[in-house]
This record gives sequence, structure tokens and C-alpha cells, in this order.
Amino acid sequence: MTYNGFDFENYLKKFPDEKGFFGKYGGAFIPPQLEPAFKEITEAYQTICHSSQFINELRRIRAEFQGRPTPVYHCERLSKYCGGAQIYLKREDLNHTGAHKLNHCMGEGLLAKFMGKKKIIAETGAGQHGVALATAAAYFGLECDIYMGAVDVKKQAPNVSRMRLLGARVIEVTDGQQTLKEAVDAAFTAYLNEYKDCIYCIGSVVGPHPFPMMVRDFQSVVGIEAREQFLKMTGLLPDVICACVGGGSNSMGLFAPFVNDPVEIVGVEPLGRGKAHGDHAASITYGSEGVMHGFNSLMLKDENGEPDKVYSVASGLDYPSVGPEHAFLHDIGRVKYEMASDDEALEAFFTLSRLEGIIPAIESSHAVAYAMRLARSEKKTGTILVNLSGRGDKDMDYVIEKYGDDYLEKRGISIKI
Ligand SMILES: *Cc1c(COP(=O)(O)O)cnc(C)c1O
Repeated sequence: MTYNGFDFENYLKKFPDEKGFFGKYGGAFIPPQLEPAFKEITEAYQTICHSSQFINELRRIRAEFQGRPTPVYHCERLSKYCGGAQIYLKREDLNHTGAHKLNHCMGEGLLAKFMGKKKIIAETGAGQHGVALATAAAYFGLECDIYMGAVDVKKQAPNVSRMRLLGARVIEVTDGQQTLKEAVDAAFTAYLNEYKDCIYCIGSVVGPHPFPMMVRDFQSVVGIEAREQFLKMTGLLPDVICACVGGGSNSMGLFAPFVNDPVEIVGVEPLGRGKAHGDHAASITYGSEGVMHGFNSLMLKDENGEPDKVYSVASGLDYPSVGPEHAFLHDIGRVKYEMASDDEALEAFFTLSRLEGIIPAIESSHAVAYAMRLARSEKKTGTILVNLSGRGDKDMDYVIEKYGDDYLEKRGISIKI
């Protein structure tokens, strides 16, 4: 299919190019000492992704350990409430550990195993990536070191307990602001010293090549399953598909298998409290080209050109850059990027819980909010498929403490249908 003059036939084979570029975005901007380590990962992945042994093993793990395929669910009550298009959810909240992240962590763990590595290391912010990776490490019998800022260790105590219970070593980073950025630096330094025995496992479609490609490929199971399931359920492809965009892994996973289809694709960025500097994390909408964490993409910058402060009610979405493939798909116009604010995400969080009995992750609630807005505005009979990237148990206590369990009533929102 051509789209804005760009041919999407064999898109996934053509992008990224050999050096890891999607147009001008991507690449691997790393210290020379790490080049051999990333080359080793790239070569191993390129061999293994064509190996039937690797593919079959990953298939078996997905079915037997993760509980895949996850269902596609038609939200009849939510659709009726919105009064326009029909809303469907791809239920990644039902993937083992409650979110999509395990899809790429199991792939990365299996890759480490095939490469003969003993250990996997990573940083984590809110702890979601750390928990998924610690799960993979336990499954494969690998050691696991998770670097985490001391401030986050305090804030995310339940996830720290989970990681420790799963056998991971949580290393508290006490430099600087003691949050995600310092954790990334500490994890990279550790990797420099230990790369012979371990691999670094990145938590989204970000970082140096080959991670944006590899994580996309591992997450594509979401879109492959959803496409087949949706066709079987309705006899048609969805009119619109959408997903929230933090680093961009759950969205790329859903989008990749649909890029060559006549389907409208929408990524939803977090608008947070509004469009002022530091109040949101909408890297595509408000960002400009720049290199951070080893790759070129769109990023939010402060007055010195450094990564800007970002904010979202969803800690999984507050990243000042975005996967390079999203920047590319935005530039060529194949994917449209919209935003949802904290308030809209919270409304979706409470509404989906009450109307469908599904408590969504506050990250995923951004995508649900956009689908609700579209369904209400269009007043037509089309279909919207939303990636419900995770479940909201992790957010429940915080949301209720901060906003109350009567959020909808307080705002005069009646959800009677
Ligand atoms: C981490 C996380 C996200 C954001 O990450 P992406 O790489 O953009 O997918 C979204 N939803 C959930 C449930 C998460 O845990």
C-alpha cells in the first residue's frame, strides 16, 4: 500500500536500515568501548530471529508461560455510552505480570540465554520494566541487576519488593536527582564493565540500535494476534487503531502489523497538566530533533538543549524522547499523534472500570480516553481498536488517594446508559 507517496510493501524488512536508521532517526550513538557489545547483540539477534529453534521456543513460552494469545474484547457498554463508533480492546492487561512489557523481556531473556550470557541488567523508573525483566530472569535462571534511583526506590516500594522476591538485585543509585536519568547512567557504566558476561535489556523501542528494532519485533505479537482476532470477530479490519506512547513499545507492537493496511493509526501522547514546559511528556507533538540515550529522535529540550523535565500522571509515559520509528512514522504521515490530558485519562480510568469491569493502567487510560473522544465525536458506526497495555491495580491506591473514588460524581459526569 502506498501512503502519502510512501510504499509500505515490505516496510518491516526495509526499516530500520543496516545501521539502525528509520530515515534520519535512530542509529547507535554510544561510547567506542561499547560498540563491540552492541555489534554482538545485533549479530546474535539477526541470526537467532531466523532460527526455528528460537522462534518455536518463544512461541511455546508465550502460550504456556505468558498465557497468550490475549483476547480482543468488544466494549459494548462503553460503546453505547459514547454513542458513536464501536470500541474494542486488545487485552494486554491479561498478559502475565499484567502488562505488555513481558513480551519483549521474555524475548531479551531468551536472546541472553542463546548468547550464553549469565546476567541481564537494566535500569527502571517506576519499576514496571524492572519487574518484567526480573520475571524473565527468574524464568531463564539468569542473574538480574536492576539500577534504580534512590527516590524511585522509596516511591515504588511494592515493585522493589516484587523484583527482590523474583530474585533480582536492586541497586540504589544515589547520584544527582536519584531518579531515572541517573539510573540509566549507572546501568550503562555497569554494562561497560560487565558486557562480556551480560546483556543490557532496554525497556522500550528506544536506545541504540538494535533495541528499537528488536523490541518492536518482540512486541509485534500484539498486533499480529489482534489483526487476526479482529478479522475473525468482525470480518473486517478496524477503521482506527490507537495506543498510548511513552517510549513507544506497546504502540509499535500494535501498529507494526497494520502499517500496510488501510487502517488509520493513532499514537496518544500524555498532555499531563497542559502544554507548558515541564507539564507534559508529548515528545512528538512538542519536541525537536536531538540525541539522547544513544539514539536520534524527537525530544523535549530545556533552554540549554538538554532533556527537559517531563510530567504525566502516568509514570510509564513520562519520558522526554520517543522511539525513533515513531518520529519517522510521524514525519512521513503514516501515524497521527494526538494527546490526552491527565484529566481525560482519569475519566477513562473510572469509566472503563465502571462500565466494563476492567481497571486499566493509567498509561493505557490515555489511549482509551482518545478512543472515547473519537467515538463521541464521529457519531458513526466505525470501529476503534485500542491497545489496553496494562492493568490498573498498580495505580489504584495512588489515584484514589489523590483524586478520590468519586472522581466522576465530583465532576458531574453521569455514566448511566
Ligand atoms: C511502561 C508502560 C507503558 C509505556 O511504555 P511504551 O514503551 O510506550 O509502551 C504503557 N503502558 C503500560 C501499562 C506500561 O507499563
